[in-house]
Amino acid sequence: MAGGKLSSWRDRDGDWIESGLHSFFGGYDHVHKLLEDVGISHHVLWQPHTLTWAFPPGFSNRWDSTDPVFEEFHFVDLPAPLNGVGAVLKGKYVFNTVEKLLFAKGTLPVLLGDHEYAERQDDISYSTWHRARGMSEHMLRAFFAPMSLALNFTSIDQISAEAMLRVMAYFASSKNASRAGFLDGPPSERFVKPIVEHIGARGQQVHLSAGAAELIFEGDRVAGVKTLDGREYRAEATILAVPVHNAARLLPAEMLRDPLVHGVGKLTSSPIINAHLWFDRPVSRFTNLIFAPGTILPVHADLGQASAGYEWPGKSFIEVCVAPADDLIKQDDETVIGRVLDDLHKLYPLASRENLVKAKLVRIPRSVYRASPGAERLRPGARTPVRNLFLAGCYTNHRFPASLEGAVRSARVAVDLALEQVGVRT
Ligand SMILES: Cc1cc2nc3c(=O)[nH]c(=O)nc-3n(C[C@H](O)[C@H](O)[C@H](O)COP(=O)(O)OP(=O)(O)OC[C@H]3O[C@@H](n4cnc5c(N)ncnc54)[C@H](O)[C@@H]3O)c2cc1C
Repeated sequence: MAGGKLSSWRDRDGDWIESGLHSFFGGYDHVHKLLEDVGISHHVLWQPHTLTWAFPPGFSNRWDSTDPVFEEFHFVDLPAPLNGVGAVLKGKYVFNTVEKLLFAKGTLPVLLGDHEYAERQDDISYSTWHRARGMSEHMLRAFFAPMSLALNFTSIDQISAEAMLRVMAYFASSKNASRAGFLDGPPSERFVKPIVEHIGARGQQVHLSAGAAELIFEGDRVAGVKTLDGREYRAEATILAVPVHNAARLLPAEMLRDPLVHGVGKLTSSPIINAHLWFDRPVSRFTNLIFAPGTILPVHADLGQASAGYEWPGKSFIEVCVAPADDLIKQDDETVIGRVLDDLHKLYPLASRENLVKAKLVRIPRSVYRASPGAERLRPGARTPVRNLFLAGCYTNHRFPASLEGAVRSARVAVDLALEQVGVRT
Protein backbone atom coordinates (compact mmCIF):
# COMPACT_ATOMS: atom_id res chain seq x y z
CA MET A 1 0.00 0.00 0.00
CA ALA A 2 1.30 3.47 -0.84
CA GLY A 3 1.63 6.02 1.93
CA GLY A 4 3.64 4.20 4.61
CA LYS A 5 2.85 5.66 8.02
CA LEU A 6 0.48 8.11 6.30
CA SER A 7 -1.72 5.44 4.76
CA SER A 8 -5.48 4.97 5.18
CA TRP A 9 -8.07 2.42 4.10
CA ARG A 10 -11.73 1.58 4.64
CA ASP A 11 -12.82 -1.07 7.14
CA ARG A 12 -15.60 -3.60 6.39
CA ASP A 13 -18.28 -1.01 7.26
CA GLY A 14 -16.73 1.49 4.84
CA ASP A 15 -15.35 3.73 7.63
CA TRP A 16 -11.88 5.25 7.33
CA ILE A 17 -8.97 3.78 9.25
CA GLU A 18 -5.54 5.46 9.34
CA SER A 19 -2.05 4.40 10.34
CA GLY A 20 -1.86 7.53 12.45
CA LEU A 21 -3.49 10.82 13.32
CA HIS A 22 -1.53 13.36 11.28
CA SER A 23 -1.33 17.09 11.62
CA PHE A 24 0.53 19.33 9.22
CA PHE A 25 2.26 22.34 10.74
CA GLY A 26 2.65 25.81 9.28
CA GLY A 27 6.44 25.59 9.16
CA TYR A 28 6.55 22.37 7.13
CA ASP A 29 8.16 24.22 4.20
CA HIS A 30 9.16 21.14 2.20
CA VAL A 31 5.77 19.47 2.67
CA HIS A 32 3.90 22.62 1.62
CA LYS A 33 6.14 23.00 -1.44
CA LEU A 34 5.30 19.41 -2.37
CA LEU A 35 1.58 20.05 -1.85
CA GLU A 36 1.82 23.13 -4.08
CA ASP A 37 3.77 21.30 -6.80
CA VAL A 38 1.12 18.58 -6.88
CA GLY A 39 -1.71 21.13 -6.67
CA ILE A 40 -3.24 19.82 -3.44
CA SER A 41 -2.51 22.59 -0.90
CA HIS A 42 -6.25 23.20 -0.61
CA HIS A 43 -6.62 19.83 1.12
CA VAL A 44 -5.05 21.21 4.32
CA LEU A 45 -7.72 22.45 6.71
CA TRP A 46 -5.99 25.02 8.89
CA GLN A 47 -7.13 25.22 12.50
CA PRO A 48 -7.05 28.35 14.70
CA HIS A 49 -3.50 29.24 15.79
CA THR A 50 -4.02 27.83 19.25
CA LEU A 51 -2.52 24.90 21.11
CA THR A 52 -5.12 23.29 23.36
CA TRP A 53 -4.33 21.32 26.51
CA ALA A 54 -7.05 19.19 28.14
CA PHE A 55 -6.55 18.34 31.82
CA PRO A 56 -8.60 15.53 33.36
CA PRO A 57 -10.19 16.35 36.72
CA GLY A 58 -7.81 16.10 39.61
CA PHE A 59 -4.77 15.73 37.39
CA SER A 60 -3.20 18.77 38.92
CA ASN A 61 -3.15 19.54 42.61
CA ARG A 62 -3.33 23.21 41.70
CA TRP A 63 -7.08 23.22 41.59
CA ASP A 64 -9.68 20.91 43.02
CA SER A 65 -12.03 21.03 40.06
CA THR A 66 -14.07 17.92 39.47
CA ASP A 67 -14.46 18.96 35.83
CA PRO A 68 -11.86 18.72 33.11
CA VAL A 69 -9.98 21.96 32.45
CA PHE A 70 -9.19 23.16 28.93
CA GLU A 71 -6.38 25.64 28.46
CA GLU A 72 -6.15 27.23 25.03
CA PHE A 73 -2.80 28.86 24.36
CA HIS A 74 -3.65 31.50 21.76
CA PHE A 75 -0.65 32.60 19.75
CA VAL A 76 -0.44 36.37 19.89
CA ASP A 77 0.12 38.68 16.93
CA LEU A 78 3.85 39.16 17.40
CA PRO A 79 6.88 37.83 15.51
CA ALA A 80 8.21 34.41 16.59
CA PRO A 81 9.29 33.44 19.20
CA LEU A 82 7.42 36.19 21.05
CA ASN A 83 4.06 34.94 19.77
CA GLY A 84 4.62 31.55 21.47
CA VAL A 85 6.10 32.96 24.68
CA GLY A 86 3.13 35.36 24.76
CA ALA A 87 0.71 32.45 24.35
CA VAL A 88 2.14 30.67 27.41
CA LEU A 89 2.40 33.85 29.47
CA LYS A 90 -1.24 34.64 28.71
CA GLY A 91 -2.40 31.13 29.73
CA LYS A 92 -5.17 31.45 32.32
CA TYR A 93 -5.56 28.30 34.32
CA VAL A 94 -2.58 26.07 34.58
CA PHE A 95 0.69 27.86 35.31
CA ASN A 96 1.41 30.54 37.86
CA THR A 97 3.46 33.64 37.11
CA VAL A 98 6.67 32.23 38.58
CA GLU A 99 6.38 29.11 36.42
CA LYS A 100 5.75 31.19 33.32
CA LEU A 101 8.80 33.35 33.97
CA LEU A 102 10.97 30.29 34.65
CA PHE A 103 9.68 28.81 31.38
CA ALA A 104 10.66 31.93 29.43
CA LYS A 105 14.10 32.05 31.09
CA GLY A 106 14.73 28.28 30.86
CA THR A 107 13.94 27.94 27.18
CA LEU A 108 15.58 31.19 26.06
CA PRO A 109 18.73 29.74 24.42
CA VAL A 110 16.56 27.45 22.32
CA LEU A 111 13.91 30.01 21.47
CA LEU A 112 16.68 32.30 20.26
CA GLY A 113 17.69 29.59 17.79
CA ASP A 114 20.98 28.40 19.33
CA HIS A 115 21.14 25.02 17.52
CA GLU A 116 24.58 24.14 18.83
CA TYR A 117 23.30 24.54 22.36
CA ALA A 118 20.48 22.09 21.55
CA GLU A 119 22.92 19.61 19.99
CA ARG A 120 25.01 19.54 23.14
CA GLN A 121 22.00 18.23 25.12
CA ASP A 122 21.63 14.90 23.30
CA ASP A 123 23.15 12.80 26.09
CA ILE A 124 20.54 13.68 28.69
CA SER A 125 16.81 13.15 28.88
CA TYR A 126 14.43 16.07 28.54
CA SER A 127 13.31 15.75 32.17
CA THR A 128 16.94 15.97 33.38
CA TRP A 129 17.52 19.09 31.25
CA HIS A 130 14.26 20.68 32.37
CA ARG A 131 15.04 20.25 36.07
CA ALA A 132 18.60 21.50 35.58
CA ARG A 133 17.17 24.68 34.01
CA GLY A 134 15.10 25.28 37.14
CA MET A 135 11.69 24.91 35.52
CA SER A 136 8.85 23.50 37.60
CA GLU A 137 7.95 19.85 38.02
CA HIS A 138 4.32 20.76 37.43
CA MET A 139 5.14 22.32 34.05
CA LEU A 140 7.16 19.22 33.15
CA ARG A 141 4.23 16.87 33.80
CA ALA A 142 1.45 19.18 32.62
CA PHE A 143 2.94 20.81 29.55
CA PHE A 144 5.97 18.93 28.25
CA ALA A 145 4.95 15.33 29.02
CA PRO A 146 2.18 15.16 26.38
CA MET A 147 4.35 17.11 23.95
CA SER A 148 7.10 14.51 24.23
CA LEU A 149 4.62 11.65 23.75
CA ALA A 150 3.05 13.40 20.76
CA LEU A 151 6.44 14.07 19.22
CA ASN A 152 8.06 10.68 19.50
CA PHE A 153 5.63 8.45 21.45
CA THR A 154 8.35 8.52 24.13
CA SER A 155 8.14 9.82 27.71
CA ILE A 156 9.97 12.91 28.97
CA ASP A 157 12.24 10.63 31.04
CA GLN A 158 13.26 8.63 27.97
CA ILE A 159 13.46 11.26 25.22
CA SER A 160 16.66 13.10 24.39
CA ALA A 161 16.67 16.75 25.48
CA GLU A 162 18.02 17.65 22.05
CA ALA A 163 15.00 16.14 20.30
CA MET A 164 12.60 18.23 22.39
CA LEU A 165 14.70 21.38 22.09
CA ARG A 166 14.76 21.04 18.33
CA VAL A 167 10.98 21.05 18.31
CA MET A 168 10.84 24.12 20.50
CA ALA A 169 13.35 25.79 18.19
CA TYR A 170 11.18 24.82 15.24
CA PHE A 171 8.04 26.28 16.90
CA ALA A 172 10.01 29.45 17.54
CA SER A 173 11.41 29.63 14.02
CA SER A 174 8.54 31.41 12.28
CA LYS A 175 5.22 32.98 13.13
CA ASN A 176 3.03 30.15 11.80
CA ALA A 177 5.34 27.20 12.52
CA SER A 178 3.10 25.97 15.35
CA ARG A 179 -0.22 26.36 13.54
CA ALA A 180 -1.76 22.93 12.95
CA GLY A 181 -3.89 21.73 10.08
CA PHE A 182 -5.41 18.39 9.09
CA LEU A 183 -6.07 16.96 5.68
CA ASP A 184 -9.72 17.45 4.75
CA GLY A 185 -10.15 13.70 4.47
CA PRO A 186 -8.21 10.43 4.59
CA PRO A 187 -4.58 10.75 3.42
CA SER A 188 -4.84 7.97 0.85
CA GLU A 189 -7.39 10.11 -1.06
CA ARG A 190 -6.17 13.61 -0.32
CA PHE A 191 -2.40 13.14 -0.33
CA VAL A 192 -1.08 9.80 -1.53
CA LYS A 193 -3.29 9.15 -4.57
CA PRO A 194 -2.78 12.63 -6.07
CA ILE A 195 1.01 12.25 -5.67
CA VAL A 196 1.02 8.84 -7.37
CA GLU A 197 -1.11 10.29 -10.20
CA HIS A 198 1.19 13.31 -10.46
CA ILE A 199 4.15 10.97 -10.90
CA GLY A 200 2.22 8.90 -13.48
CA ALA A 201 1.28 12.02 -15.45
CA ARG A 202 5.03 12.69 -15.87
CA GLY A 203 5.60 9.29 -17.46
CA GLN A 204 7.00 7.61 -14.34
CA GLN A 205 5.67 4.54 -12.58
CA VAL A 206 5.02 3.62 -8.97
CA HIS A 207 5.14 -0.15 -8.44
CA LEU A 208 3.32 -1.27 -5.31
CA SER A 209 3.66 -4.71 -3.69
CA ALA A 210 7.32 -4.70 -4.69
CA GLY A 211 9.05 -5.28 -1.35
CA ALA A 212 12.82 -5.12 -1.66
CA ALA A 213 14.43 -8.37 -0.51
CA GLU A 214 18.05 -7.45 -1.21
CA LEU A 215 20.31 -4.97 -2.86
CA ILE A 216 22.15 -6.15 -5.97
CA PHE A 217 25.86 -5.37 -5.64
CA GLU A 218 28.15 -5.26 -8.68
CA GLY A 219 31.73 -4.47 -7.71
CA ASP A 220 31.78 -1.30 -5.62
CA ARG A 221 28.30 -0.12 -6.65
CA VAL A 222 24.67 -1.06 -6.20
CA ALA A 223 23.05 -2.08 -9.47
CA GLY A 224 19.47 -2.18 -8.17
CA VAL A 225 17.19 -4.28 -5.99
CA LYS A 226 15.73 -7.76 -6.04
CA THR A 227 12.13 -7.99 -4.79
CA LEU A 228 10.61 -10.59 -2.49
CA ASP A 229 8.91 -12.21 -5.50
CA GLY A 230 12.17 -12.43 -7.42
CA ARG A 231 11.84 -9.43 -9.76
CA GLU A 232 14.91 -7.29 -10.40
CA TYR A 233 14.88 -3.52 -10.77
CA ARG A 234 18.13 -2.11 -12.13
CA ALA A 235 19.16 1.50 -11.60
CA GLU A 236 22.11 3.87 -11.94
CA ALA A 237 21.45 5.13 -8.44
CA THR A 238 19.31 3.66 -5.65
CA ILE A 239 17.59 5.41 -2.72
CA LEU A 240 16.66 3.19 0.19
CA ALA A 241 13.56 4.94 1.60
CA VAL A 242 12.33 2.35 4.10
CA PRO A 243 11.95 2.54 7.93
CA VAL A 244 15.21 2.22 9.82
CA HIS A 245 14.66 -1.38 10.98
CA ASN A 246 14.11 -2.45 7.36
CA ALA A 247 17.15 -0.49 6.19
CA ALA A 248 19.17 -2.38 8.82
CA ARG A 249 18.01 -5.64 7.25
CA LEU A 250 18.79 -4.58 3.68
CA LEU A 251 22.25 -3.11 4.25
CA PRO A 252 24.97 -5.78 4.46
CA ALA A 253 26.27 -6.42 7.99
CA GLU A 254 29.81 -5.30 7.11
CA MET A 255 28.50 -1.99 5.76
CA LEU A 256 26.73 -1.33 9.07
CA ARG A 257 30.16 -1.05 10.70
CA ASP A 258 30.97 2.00 8.57
CA PRO A 259 30.72 5.30 10.53
CA LEU A 260 28.49 6.78 7.80
CA VAL A 261 25.67 4.32 8.46
CA HIS A 262 26.49 2.51 11.72
CA GLY A 263 23.51 4.22 13.40
CA VAL A 264 21.11 2.33 11.10
CA GLY A 265 21.85 -0.86 12.99
CA LYS A 266 21.70 0.83 16.39
CA LEU A 267 18.60 3.03 16.30
CA THR A 268 15.48 1.54 17.85
CA SER A 269 11.84 2.46 17.18
CA SER A 270 8.87 3.60 19.26
CA PRO A 271 5.68 1.52 19.37
CA ILE A 272 2.38 3.33 18.89
CA ILE A 273 -1.33 2.53 18.75
CA ASN A 274 -3.69 4.68 16.69
CA ALA A 275 -7.21 4.40 18.14
CA HIS A 276 -10.37 5.33 16.22
CA LEU A 277 -13.61 5.95 18.13
CA TRP A 278 -16.91 6.75 16.47
CA PHE A 279 -19.66 8.29 18.65
CA ASP A 280 -23.34 8.72 17.85
CA ARG A 281 -23.23 12.46 18.69
CA PRO A 282 -20.76 15.32 19.09
CA VAL A 283 -18.87 14.71 22.34
CA SER A 284 -16.23 17.45 22.15
CA ARG A 285 -16.35 21.12 21.20
CA PHE A 286 -12.88 21.24 19.62
CA THR A 287 -11.72 20.60 16.07
CA ASN A 288 -8.06 21.40 16.81
CA LEU A 289 -5.27 19.11 17.99
CA ILE A 290 -5.63 18.40 21.72
CA PHE A 291 -2.78 17.57 24.11
CA ALA A 292 -3.89 15.72 27.24
CA PRO A 293 -1.42 15.19 30.12
CA GLY A 294 -2.06 12.48 32.69
CA THR A 295 -3.87 10.27 30.16
CA ILE A 296 -2.94 7.70 27.53
CA LEU A 297 -4.32 10.13 24.92
CA PRO A 298 -1.41 12.58 24.79
CA VAL A 299 -2.55 13.86 21.42
CA HIS A 300 -5.94 13.42 19.75
CA ALA A 301 -8.44 15.18 17.51
CA ASP A 302 -12.10 15.01 16.60
CA LEU A 303 -11.76 14.48 12.86
CA GLY A 304 -15.50 13.83 12.45
CA GLN A 305 -16.21 17.40 13.45
CA ALA A 306 -13.07 18.82 11.83
CA SER A 307 -13.79 17.57 8.34
CA ALA A 308 -16.69 16.23 6.27
CA GLY A 309 -14.10 14.11 4.43
CA TYR A 310 -14.19 11.58 7.28
CA GLU A 311 -17.85 10.89 6.48
CA TRP A 312 -19.10 11.14 10.08
CA PRO A 313 -20.88 14.49 9.79
CA GLY A 314 -22.07 16.33 12.88
CA LYS A 315 -20.80 13.59 15.21
CA SER A 316 -17.49 12.84 16.85
CA PHE A 317 -14.98 10.56 15.21
CA ILE A 318 -11.98 10.85 17.51
CA GLU A 319 -8.55 9.66 16.53
CA VAL A 320 -6.05 9.15 19.32
CA CYS A 321 -2.31 8.47 19.40
CA VAL A 322 -2.21 6.09 22.37
CA ALA A 323 1.13 6.52 24.13
CA PRO A 324 3.35 5.42 25.73
CA ALA A 325 2.42 2.16 24.03
CA ASP A 326 5.40 0.02 25.11
CA ASP A 327 3.22 -2.09 27.44
CA LEU A 328 -0.24 -1.32 26.06
CA ILE A 329 0.63 -2.68 22.61
CA LYS A 330 0.80 -6.18 24.14
CA GLN A 331 -2.73 -5.91 25.61
CA ASP A 332 -5.84 -7.14 23.80
CA ASP A 333 -8.15 -4.72 21.93
CA GLU A 334 -10.87 -4.75 24.57
CA THR A 335 -8.43 -3.72 27.32
CA VAL A 336 -6.83 -0.94 25.28
CA ILE A 337 -10.17 0.43 24.04
CA GLY A 338 -11.50 0.33 27.61
CA ARG A 339 -8.53 2.39 28.87
CA VAL A 340 -8.82 4.87 25.99
CA LEU A 341 -12.54 5.28 26.62
CA ASP A 342 -12.00 5.77 30.38
CA ASP A 343 -9.56 8.61 29.71
CA LEU A 344 -11.69 10.18 26.96
CA HIS A 345 -14.69 10.10 29.29
CA LYS A 346 -12.72 12.07 31.89
CA LEU A 347 -12.21 14.83 29.33
CA TYR A 348 -15.53 14.64 27.50
CA PRO A 349 -18.33 13.28 29.72
CA LEU A 350 -20.42 12.42 26.65
CA ALA A 351 -17.68 10.10 25.40
CA SER A 352 -19.21 7.12 27.18
CA ARG A 353 -19.66 3.48 26.25
CA GLU A 354 -23.41 4.10 25.68
CA ASN A 355 -22.65 6.75 23.05
CA LEU A 356 -19.85 4.80 21.40
CA VAL A 357 -20.79 3.29 18.04
CA LYS A 358 -17.54 1.40 17.50
CA ALA A 359 -13.79 1.53 18.08
CA LYS A 360 -10.82 0.20 16.12
CA LEU A 361 -7.08 0.08 16.80
CA VAL A 362 -4.05 0.10 14.52
CA ARG A 363 -0.87 -1.14 16.18
CA ILE A 364 2.59 -0.19 14.86
CA PRO A 365 5.22 -1.95 16.99
CA ARG A 366 8.08 -0.11 15.24
CA SER A 367 6.91 3.31 14.10
CA VAL A 368 9.36 6.24 14.07
CA TYR A 369 12.95 5.96 15.37
CA ARG A 370 13.07 6.38 19.14
CA ALA A 371 14.74 9.69 20.00
CA SER A 372 16.32 8.42 23.24
CA PRO A 373 19.43 10.12 24.67
CA GLY A 374 22.32 9.64 22.25
CA ALA A 375 20.08 8.71 19.32
CA GLU A 376 20.34 12.04 17.52
CA ARG A 377 24.04 11.38 16.93
CA LEU A 378 23.25 7.97 15.44
CA ARG A 379 20.97 9.33 12.72
CA PRO A 380 22.77 8.80 9.40
CA GLY A 381 22.98 11.27 6.56
CA ALA A 382 21.83 10.42 3.04
CA ARG A 383 25.24 9.16 1.88
CA THR A 384 26.37 5.57 2.37
CA PRO A 385 29.80 4.01 1.83
CA VAL A 386 28.55 3.00 -1.66
CA ARG A 387 28.67 6.03 -3.90
CA ASN A 388 25.42 5.34 -5.81
CA LEU A 389 23.35 4.18 -2.81
CA PHE A 390 21.53 6.75 -0.66
CA LEU A 391 19.27 6.73 2.40
CA ALA A 392 16.01 8.63 2.88
CA GLY A 393 13.37 8.53 5.58
CA CYS A 394 12.35 10.49 8.64
CA TYR A 395 15.01 8.74 10.76
CA THR A 396 17.88 10.21 8.72
CA ASN A 397 19.55 13.32 10.04
CA HIS A 398 18.02 16.42 8.51
CA ARG A 399 17.97 18.39 11.76
CA PHE A 400 14.26 17.81 12.11
CA PRO A 401 12.19 15.37 14.18
CA ALA A 402 10.75 12.19 12.71
CA SER A 403 7.78 13.71 10.87
CA LEU A 404 6.25 14.30 7.47
CA GLU A 405 8.48 17.34 7.03
CA GLY A 406 11.52 15.28 8.01
CA ALA A 407 10.62 12.57 5.51
CA VAL A 408 10.18 15.05 2.64
CA ARG A 409 13.37 16.95 3.55
CA SER A 410 15.34 13.72 3.60
CA ALA A 411 13.92 12.69 0.22
CA ARG A 412 14.90 16.05 -1.28
CA VAL A 413 18.50 15.62 -0.11
CA ALA A 414 18.72 12.00 -1.30
CA VAL A 415 17.20 12.79 -4.70
CA ASP A 416 19.59 15.70 -5.26
CA LEU A 417 22.57 13.49 -4.41
CA ALA A 418 21.32 10.67 -6.64
CA LEU A 419 20.79 13.04 -9.56
CA GLU A 420 24.25 14.49 -9.04
CA GLN A 421 25.65 10.96 -9.02
CA VAL A 422 24.12 10.16 -12.40
CA GLY A 423 25.13 13.54 -13.83
CA VAL A 424 21.73 15.27 -13.91
CA ARG A 425 21.71 18.92 -12.88
CA THR A 426 18.61 20.21 -11.05
C1 LIG B 1 0.57 7.23 14.76
C2 LIG B 1 1.45 8.21 14.04
C3 LIG B 1 1.13 9.57 14.07
C4 LIG B 1 1.96 10.50 13.44
N1 LIG B 1 1.61 11.82 13.46
C5 LIG B 1 2.37 12.71 12.79
C6 LIG B 1 1.97 14.07 12.69
O1 LIG B 1 0.93 14.47 13.23
N2 LIG B 1 2.75 14.93 11.98
C7 LIG B 1 3.91 14.52 11.37
O2 LIG B 1 4.57 15.34 10.73
N3 LIG B 1 4.32 13.24 11.44
C8 LIG B 1 3.58 12.33 12.13
N4 LIG B 1 3.97 11.01 12.19
C9 LIG B 1 5.28 10.64 11.63
C10 LIG B 1 5.21 10.45 10.13
O3 LIG B 1 4.14 9.60 9.78
C11 LIG B 1 6.50 9.80 9.65
O4 LIG B 1 7.59 10.52 10.15
C12 LIG B 1 6.60 9.76 8.14
O5 LIG B 1 5.41 9.31 7.55
C13 LIG B 1 7.74 8.84 7.79
O6 LIG B 1 7.88 8.74 6.41
P1 LIG B 1 9.00 7.76 5.85
O7 LIG B 1 8.90 7.85 4.36
O8 LIG B 1 10.28 8.04 6.51
O9 LIG B 1 8.58 6.30 6.36
P2 LIG B 1 7.27 5.47 6.06
O10 LIG B 1 6.08 6.34 6.00
O11 LIG B 1 7.27 4.36 7.06
O12 LIG B 1 7.50 4.89 4.60
C14 LIG B 1 8.37 3.82 4.36
C15 LIG B 1 7.82 2.99 3.24
O13 LIG B 1 8.73 1.94 2.97
C16 LIG B 1 7.98 0.77 2.68
N5 LIG B 1 8.86 -0.40 2.88
C17 LIG B 1 9.26 -0.96 4.04
N6 LIG B 1 10.08 -2.00 3.81
C18 LIG B 1 10.20 -2.09 2.47
C19 LIG B 1 10.91 -2.95 1.62
N7 LIG B 1 11.67 -3.96 2.08
N8 LIG B 1 10.79 -2.78 0.27
C20 LIG B 1 10.03 -1.77 -0.23
N9 LIG B 1 9.35 -0.92 0.53
C21 LIG B 1 9.42 -1.08 1.88
C22 LIG B 1 6.80 0.83 3.62
O14 LIG B 1 5.75 0.02 3.16
C23 LIG B 1 6.47 2.33 3.55
O15 LIG B 1 5.57 2.58 2.51
C24 LIG B 1 3.15 10.07 12.79
C25 LIG B 1 3.46 8.70 12.75
C26 LIG B 1 2.63 7.78 13.35
C27 LIG B 1 2.98 6.33 13.30
